[in-house]
Amino acid sequence: MTALLNQQVLVLNRLWQAVNICTARRALTLLFQGHAQAVLNRDDGSFQTFNFAEWHDLSRTEPHPESIATVSFRIRVPRVILVLFFDRVPKKEVKFTRQNIFERDQNTCQYCGKVFDRKDLNLDHVIPRDRGGPTSWENIVCSCIGCNTRKRNRTPREAHMQLIRRPKRPKWRPFVQINLSLARHDSWKHFIDLAYWNVELGSDKR
Ligand SMILES: [Zn+2]
Repeated sequence: MTALLNQQVLVLNRLWQAVNICTARRALTLLFQGHAQAVLNRDDGSFQTFNFAEWHDLSRTEPHPESIATVSFRIRVPRVILVLFFDRVPKKEVKFTRQNIFERDQNTCQYCGKVFDRKDLNLDHVIPRDRGGPTSWENIVCSCIGCNTRKRNRTPREAHMQLIRRPKRPKWRPFVQINLSLARHDSWKHFIDLAYWNVELGSDKR
């Protein structure tokens, strides 16, 4: 039972982004206090969330080996929880990551202003790297493949292209980086794969 309570649980924020890892003990406390919901991967690939009462019901109707018994009831240990009050996660500086650049630019090419799938967007150095352009919030933007090809290794001015807005460090609250080597459990995989976008880029330190 102690081992189960110390088991690691993946913590998602309200945007379903992996933000942290906590113990099952902590996860159950947050669930019980109504600060979090348990997340379950269903066989059809969907995800379902449960508040404490619903999770308690599920623990009874669908008994699972990863359960703990209290005096009065038996409850399943969650593998993933969704924290409803993100304020409980410590505030950190916005990390300079692909994910956060795409978030800042809202998946929009900063030259033509069109929205794309992330896989169809590049990260562009506004002032090219070999011209001394830094890898920084102020010099990296999302760019579609078409605009990227057109711009080539030139400044926007040289390419007669204009940014739709000046790139800046974002102010919103970021991801909390989680250690990818901790990605041990199958039910985490979906969320950890997303964490690729979350790896901090080799950046110029401010
Ligand atoms: Zn474009």
